[in-house]
Amino acid sequence: MNTSKPIIAILGSLNVDLVTRTPRIPAAGETLEALSFNTGHGGKGANQAVACARLSRPSKSSATSSSSAQVDVRMIGAIGKDDAFGGPFLAALEADGLDVTRVRRLEGQKTGVAVITVEERTGENRIMFVPGANHSVPREPLLDGDEDVLVLQLETPLEVVFLNMQHAKEKGVDVVINPAPAVPLPDDVYAGLDHLIVNESEAALLSGKPAEEITPESDLSPVAAEFIEKGVKNVIITLGGAGVFYQTAARHEQSQSGSLIPAKKVKVVDTTAAGDTFVGAYAVAVAKSKASRATGTPFDIDSAIAFANKAAALTVQKNGAQDAIPWLHEVDDA
Ligand code: ADP
Repeated sequence: MNTSKPIIAILGSLNVDLVTRTPRIPAAGETLEALSFNTGHGGKGANQAVACARLSRPSKSSATSSSSAQVDVRMIGAIGKDDAFGGPFLAALEADGLDVTRVRRLEGQKTGVAVITVEERTGENRIMFVPGANHSVPREPLLDGDEDVLVLQLETPLEVVFLNMQHAKEKGVDVVINPAPAVPLPDDVYAGLDHLIVNESEAALLSGKPAEEITPESDLSPVAAEFIEKGVKNVIITLGGAGVFYQTAARHEQSQSGSLIPAKKVKVVDTTAAGDTFVGAYAVAVAKSKASRATGTPFDIDSAIAFANKAAALTVQKNGAQDAIPWLHEVDDA
């Protein structure tokens, strides 16, 4: 383990959102004047990396000063080499304090984009997602070996995710996986997995339980038990405005049921990136606990979830994706 600052690596997607707001959805063959056009940076990987960086740094003004950062945060992924989007994307991530030296700029590839049309009147959207370079992340071990925590999602090829997860488990790196977008996973993914974070629909798909059974009112212990019996140590099911259900392997072994922790009561503006903020905040708490765990203090999952709930509740009070992810001082002040 690293003896100085903990290190989090996020292996995942980087996408540019191209958002056009229109008075209505154009018909086939029609040219329609739009109301506005905006670009934004996204991708679950990049969003979670930004959350990790901001939630371990006091504020934007000190983002690039390494002395004020509590955690070193590395992004691993791929963007296009010669397209217009890659350079500004990396510059924005660096301004948030992220180490982007492991993001590959791939020759002849394009940065992933989501082309989004939003109909102004209804808010209804149409999205075309082009994964581009995200699908060409090299199928090889991408960790340096000195990381404390690896954060994964499923927007990069599964082969890359599984290979690096295995590598991390062998090196004693704590793995946090947010398997989104969810696809059924082989059982060996769960063996020795430290932290599984899923929302309601992901929990249903991965456990094979009917979606109607995954609600804040249901007893989610049997759902969590499915994952724990396959080898997961901490199962966290996020339930939107209803909060979070969690269960640990230790409590399961003692036949204790899991707990529901309510979300903060706030005025919701836009829930985009709430889940990504939650995952990033939780990963920061895992990383910060690593040094004390080495001296025998167990991981305090309740305070990790409380911190993540607080951070995600700030995200839902703002519009946008990465724009809505808070800095540490905002969570401390909330
Ligand atoms: P996802 O965006 O992945 O579907 P959720 O909707 O479950 O994830 O939200 C993730 C977390 O964001 C929740 O566990 C909670 O902490 C926070 N959150 C989401 N919606 C709200 C809300 N309406 N009020 C307060 N917090 C919220």
